[in-house]
Amino acid sequence: MPSSREYARWRNRMVDDQLVKRGINDRRVLDAMRVIPRHAFLPEEFKPQAYEDRPAPIGEGQTISQPYIVAFMTERLRLKPHHTVLEIGAGSGYQTAILCHLSHYVYSIERVSRLADQAGERIGDLGYNNIEIYVGDGSQGLPDQATFDRIMVTAAVPRLPNVLCSQLDKHGGQMILPIGDEELQELTLVTRRGVRFTSRALLRCRFVPLIGRYGFDSDISDEQQIF
Ligand code: SAH
Repeated sequence: MPSSREYARWRNRMVDDQLVKRGINDRRVLDAMRVIPRHAFLPEEFKPQAYEDRPAPIGEGQTISQPYIVAFMTERLRLKPHHTVLEIGAGSGYQTAILCHLSHYVYSIERVSRLADQAGERIGDLGYNNIEIYVGDGSQGLPDQATFDRIMVTAAVPRLPNVLCSQLDKHGGQMILPIGDEELQELTLVTRRGVRFTSRALLRCRFVPLIGRYGFDSDISDEQQIF
């Protein structure tokens, strides 16, 4: 097993080579990704590959996103320390930890209870307590806690869910989410000003499907495992 110093060296190299060189330049995002140990969010056998330039399996047919995608989505949300954030699809909890590091409070929803438990434990171990993880269908958001300054969806949706748009803060609330079919999506940034919503496609990507009322049906999930 690599030592934690070795992991730290790989992590810094990941930030320099995969993020800075590709144009990520938000200092707070880069700092968060230098600090938070991605290997702590992977199953034992995949830890040594934690700082490679790709997604990785986390069990239950799900994946932890590629570091660049995590950095890109986080940077585009322009998180402020006072923001309240809703994340949909906690998965391993790695992205969640980054959101905890950069904002005031994070609500996260995960469909698979085993993943939610594990993510909560790992984030707690790192010392973050500005987080609540719910188990359930995040495609409907979290109406009881709305509105949110920022929403991040880390699984693919077939179309923009109105129910999530309505949970954005009226004064410049923003959401980032992959919209498309099961094969390919466009990472889209939605901004709310009062009753006006604008949306911008930013990047082609491939996420696992969001399974739920405003996502995809559950029967596609078994064949769509993305490693
Ligand atoms: N950001 C995570 C990505 C995990 S993959 C990471 O980097 O580890 C997407 C996650 O969305 C999976 O864990 C999957 O179980 C979850 N998911 C799928 N449909 C969901 C739904 N309707 N509500 C909440 N989570 C969902």
